[in-house]
Order: sequence, then C-alpha cells, then structure tokens
Amino acid sequence: MQITKNTVAIIDYTLTDDDGEEIDSSSDGEPLRYIHGVGDLIPGLEEELEGKRAGDSVKVRVPPEKGYGERDEALVQDVDRKHLPAEVELELGMQFQAQGPAGLLVMTVVDIGDDTVRLDANHPLAGVALNFAVTVRDVRPATEAELEHGHVHGPGGHH
Ligand code: ZN
Repeated sequence: MQITKNTVAIIDYTLTDDDGEEIDSSSDGEPLRYIHGVGDLIPGLEEELEGKRAGDSVKVRVPPEKGYGERDEALVQDVDRKHLPAEVELELGMQFQAQGPAGLLVMTVVDIGDDTVRLDANHPLAGVALNFAVTVRDVRPATEAELEHGHVHGPGGHH
C-alpha cells in the first residue's frame, strides 16, 4: 500500500547537512515508525513520502522553512547567571528546558560570560537545510487506537 494520511510508515533514514555531515540516522538502531499526515514529521519530508511504497527510496533536501524554521535572533538572550540554578556547572552546548508562552522551550548555552550566560532558544536545526535519504521498509494502516493516541504501537512502540 501507499503512504497516505493515517497510515503507519516504517522508514530507515539518514539526515545530513549541506556539508555532508551526518546529523542523525536510524541506521544504528530501530527504523523510525510514524503516523503519516498527523504532523509527526517535518512538513518537507512528509510531503515527499506521500504516495511512496515499501522498497521505495527518496532523497530530498528540505529547506529550513519546511523543516525547523528559520533562526530567530530574538530567541537569543543574555541571562543573568543568578537566574540559573546555582548547582549547575555550565558548559557550552548544555541545554535547559523552560516553560515559554508557546509551550516548552529548549535553550542551549551558546556563550558563558562572567555575569551572564547567552541562551539560544532556537531549535538546534533551525536555519539548517536538511538532506534526507529515506528508504521505506513497510506501510500499513494505522489502528484506531494508534490514531486516538497519536502514536505508533507495536514493536519498538508503546502498548
Ligand atoms: Zn498509545
């Protein structure tokens, strides 16, 4: 069957940036299982997988606007160190979660000064073009329970 809304697709993928550096892949573990058409995947990849079948391979370059969005420099803020938990030893690249107006934000420490710490709440892949190489392993209809829960059940999933 073809990948379309409310099917479960099982895919292997490799994600690289424009320099060919691997960002993520399913090769070292389980394939990715997702429900198609419910916003589980970034839009640029989901569009490309529509209509594909088991055995099909897809290569697609997803621009930031169809991936994790463009960077927003307003999301980079200098925060007084005293507002951060004192027991935490700060390191570059360290991430904090904070409740923002639009939900949970993940903030990355991008600079550490004497009195302030620069935090970046952009998605780590914001502004990055994403090059996906995907092979479809299997496609099946999602069960009613899966659609109700909004996630895939069965092997590697929750029951
Ligand atoms: Zn469930």
